Amino acid sequence: MKVPLQITKQEILTFYKHINPLTHKGIQGHALLVGGSYGKIGAAVLASGACLKSGCGLVTAFIPKCGYAILQISNPEVMVVTDESENFISRINFESEPQAIGIGPGLGQEKETQKAFFEFLSTNICPLVLDADALNILSLHKSWLELLPENTILTPHPKELERLIGKWESENEKFENTIAFSEQYKIIIVMKGAPTFIINQSKIYQNTTGNAALATAGSGDVLTGIITSFLAQGYSPDQAARLGVFIHGLTADIALPETGYQSFIASDIIKNLGKAFL
Ligand code: AMP
Ligand code: MG
Repeated sequence: MKVPLQITKQEILTFYKHINPLTHKGIQGHALLVGGSYGKIGAAVLASGACLKSGCGLVTAFIPKCGYAILQISNPEVMVVTDESENFISRINFESEPQAIGIGPGLGQEKETQKAFFEFLSTNICPLVLDADALNILSLHKSWLELLPENTILTPHPKELERLIGKWESENEKFENTIAFSEQYKIIIVMKGAPTFIINQSKIYQNTTGNAALATAGSGDVLTGIITSFLAQGYSPDQAARLGVFIHGLTADIALPETGYQSFIASDIIKNLGKAFL
C-alpha cells in the first residue's frame, strides 16, 4: 500500500480559509442535515449543532414530526423542516437550496425511509455526505450507489464499511477493496477508526488527531455535521473530509485533560470546537 499523506496542522493550513471580516451568513454556506427517527432525534440534534458550530452560516434540519420541539429547543439557531410522517422520514421534501446535504444520523431503515432516500438520490445534484443508516440502506441496495454524485463523501465505521464492501481477510485487503470501491463510484471514503483514513481514489490520507475518548455514542453523527458544514462553506469534498476529521479529533485531544476518556461525550466534541478552531 502507498504511504498515506498525514493530515497535520501544517497540511490543513495549506488550504484552511480564515473568516473574511466582511462575510455575512448568506455567504457562509447553507447546509441541510437529514436524519432522525423516533428515539434517535438526538443524532439530528448533534449533527445539526456541530454543523452550525463549524462555521456554516445557515443550517436546516429535515426530521420527522416527532422531533420538531426537541430540535428547536436543543438548537434554536437551526431551522427545522418536518417530514409528513410522525416517527420517521417518508419523503425528503424541502424548499431551501443548500450547498451541501448530510444524510443518515438517526435516520432508521423503515421501508418508507428507504424509498424516500431512493427518490431523493434520483433527482439530487447537491454535494452529499452520507453516514450511518444512509450507508446501511445503500448496503441493502448496492445499485443505488450509481446515483451518487461524483465526490460524495461516505463516513462508515468498520461495520458499515464491511456491509458496503464485504468482509476482508487482512488490513491490506481492506485498503485495496476500499480503494477499488472509491474508484468504481468516484466517491470519497472516510474510514473511521483509530486512526481514521480517507480514501479518495488513488489518494490516501491518515488523520493524526483524536483518541479513544471519541469511542462514544453520537461521535460519528457530530463528524457528519462538521464535514457537511465545510462542504457547504465551499471547501472541496477532499478538503472538507480532511479538515473535518482533523478538527473532530482535535476537540478530543483538547478536552481529554479535563474529561478523561470516560466522561467525554459527543456533546463535548461540539463544546470544544471553538478551541479547536482557535
Ligand atoms: P461512530 O461509530 O459513527 O459514532 O463514529 C465514531 C467516531 O469516533 C469516528 O470518527 C472514529 O474515528 C472515532 N473513534 C472511535 N474510537 C476511536 C478511538 N479508539 N481512537 C480514535 N478515534 C476513535
Ligand atoms: Mg455512526
